[in-house]
Formats: sequence, structure tokens, C-alpha cells
Amino acid sequence: MQETKMPGNKIYPYLISVGFVFVMTLLGELVKKKLEPTNIVMFYLLAVVIVAIRWGQWPAIMTAVLSVLAFDFFLVPPYLTLNVHDFEYLFTFGAFLAVGLIVSTLTSKVRAQIIQRQTEKLHSALLNSISHDLKTPLVSITGALSALLDNASKLNEQQKNELLETAKGESERLDRIVNNILDMARTESGVLRIAKKPCDLRDFIGTCLEQLKDKIGSRNIKINISKDMPEVNVDFPFMLKAFLNVIDNALKYSLDGSAIEIGASCINGKARIFVRDYGYGILKEDLGRIFNKFYRVQHAENVLGTGLGLSISKNIIEAHGGHISAESIFGKGATFIIELPLERK
Ligand code: ADP
Repeated sequence: MQETKMPGNKIYPYLISVGFVFVMTLLGELVKKKLEPTNIVMFYLLAVVIVAIRWGQWPAIMTAVLSVLAFDFFLVPPYLTLNVHDFEYLFTFGAFLAVGLIVSTLTSKVRAQIIQRQTEKLHSALLNSISHDLKTPLVSITGALSALLDNASKLNEQQKNELLETAKGESERLDRIVNNILDMARTESGVLRIAKKPCDLRDFIGTCLEQLKDKIGSRNIKINISKDMPEVNVDFPFMLKAFLNVIDNALKYSLDGSAIEIGASCINGKARIFVRDYGYGILKEDLGRIFNKFYRVQHAENVLGTGLGLSISKNIIEAHGGHISAESIFGKGATFIIELPLERK
């Protein structure tokens, strides 16, 4: 599906098919003294099948047609003409074209089905995950409010307050989840409009920490931004969201009192910013998945979250032409590295 979206990619499969036919013809030339031409046809058939599986029907049909022409021209006597003396070869050509067409049609149908199934599976997984995330707080809110209404006369002030607190807390959670889902949808659609402005990283990190001050507790936050760090061009509100998710995670997945380090330097013409914590860390096999939508690591279950934060950060950072990755030693903490392009002076 992606292939058709990308401009310039449309002729690529056809070039590949020309390449394949060229290579198969060379192979045919090498063995034509030893093998019957009808056996050499198998090379071309292989090319048709590979092209059909990887690039779909039309490139495969082109491979089939080119193969027949190349086979006839180079590998069937009389060589270097399209004339055929031996009537038998006409059957070979006919059969080859038919097989090529059938194989390419079948494989492209299978391909389309696989893509369709994968999309359906993904949609239902996302829907399940979203509905579960939304349902849990809704059930708690409804439960708390029903208990208040049904037992109004029997409950004392403290019990009423507790129920109201539950309802409030869960409403806030619901609000966070809905906002995350909206952010995800907005940043994922590929039409994210970012308005970049030069921004001083010191101010930027300062704003992040200011917004998270209630969660910082007694953590020791060390900031180290290299002196030669130029301004970076970012959409401030969006990039703030991206960094808040990462720094918030560093706070969520580490213990109060531990250290958090935030550093920035200019490496290979890029701004390289890292956020390091000394918390739970991430297992090696999870490192590649934590940026996926709704992915939460098993042991993170007792920490509130939706599994959307990092995927939103990734979308925003990539929309800026940047890159985010994570390194970790499980049990010893995690480091998130964000690279952003710098304007050349
Ligand atoms: P969540 O809402 O669950 O925090 P994120 O997308 O922000 O979702 O993160 C995905 C998962 O990656 C988290 O559930 C957590 O398991 C893991 N993770 C993210 N940051 C850290 C970190 N600094 N230390 C340990 N684990 C982390």
C-alpha cells in the first residue's frame, strides 16, 4: 500500500523487473550450451514469481512479457532474432505467458488479502485497547456516582468525599486518555502542521520541568547543555508535548530521590538531547516496541499510563525531521535520545 503513495516509487518495480530479466538472461547465456532452452525458462519463471510476490501484478506481467522476448531473442535458435523455427517453442511461450499471468494474479490477490487481514487485525486490536482504556474509568465513575445516589442517606461525609474523590480522579484519567488519543490521531495523520521557530534549549527544558514540578518530588535533576549549543528550530507547543512525555516517563518509572539527567550537545550537525533516569529500566526485547501505539511493558501495569505517550513523541519528533531512540540496562534505568536537525549557518 505504501509503495503507491510514495512518488517516484512507481517505476521502481518495473526497473527491478528489467534487472531481473537481464540477470536471468545472463544466467541463461552461461548455461545455454548445457541446458535445453525449455529448462532455462524456469529461471524466468522464478523471476516472475519473485516480482509478483514482492511488487504485485503489473510488474510481474511486465516481467513475463520481457522474459518471453529476451528468451526468444537470446536463448532460442536462431539467436538474436525474434523468429522461431521450432514450432514447439510457440507452445512454451504461450504456456509461459499464461503461467506468468496466473501466478502474478494469484500472488497479488494473496498479497492484497494479507494486507487486508493485517489492517483488520490492527484495527480491532486498537479498538479493543481504546475501549478497554475508556471503559475502566467510566465504570469506576458510574460506580462511585451510583453509590452516592443510592445510599445518600446512609453515607457519612467522609465516605461521600471518598466516592467523589474517586469519581474526580477517574474523570481526570479519562480526560488524559481522551487527550492522548486525540493527540495520537492529530500527530499520526501525516498532515501535522508544525510552525518552527528558533528556540533556546535551556528555556525549553526549563519550561518542561516547570510543567512537571508537581511530579518531580525530591529528585535530583542535573541539566548539562553544552555551551556551543545553537538554537533549535521547533514548533514549541508540539515539541513540549514530545519532551513532557519522555521526562514524565523518567519520573514515572523511577523512584523518588533518584537522579534524572538531561543533557544536550551538538553532534554531527545535529542537536542530540538525552533524558536519563536511574529507575526500573526496560528489557532489551521491549526497547523496539515501546514506541508503538498502546504498547505498555508488563511490569508497568502498576503505573498509570495509556501506552500512547512515546508514540506521540515519536510522531512529533519525526515530523521535525528528527529521531528518538532508547537505551537501557534493565533494573538500572533508561536513556532516551532525541536527535533534531540543526539549520546550517
Ligand atoms: P505509558 O503511558 O504507558 O507511559 P508510553 O508510550 O509513554 O506509555 O511508554 C510505553 C512504555 O514504555 C511504558 O508503559 C513503559 O513500560 C516503558 N517506558 C517508557 N519510558 C520508560 C522509562 N523511562 N523507564 C522505564 N520504562 C519506560
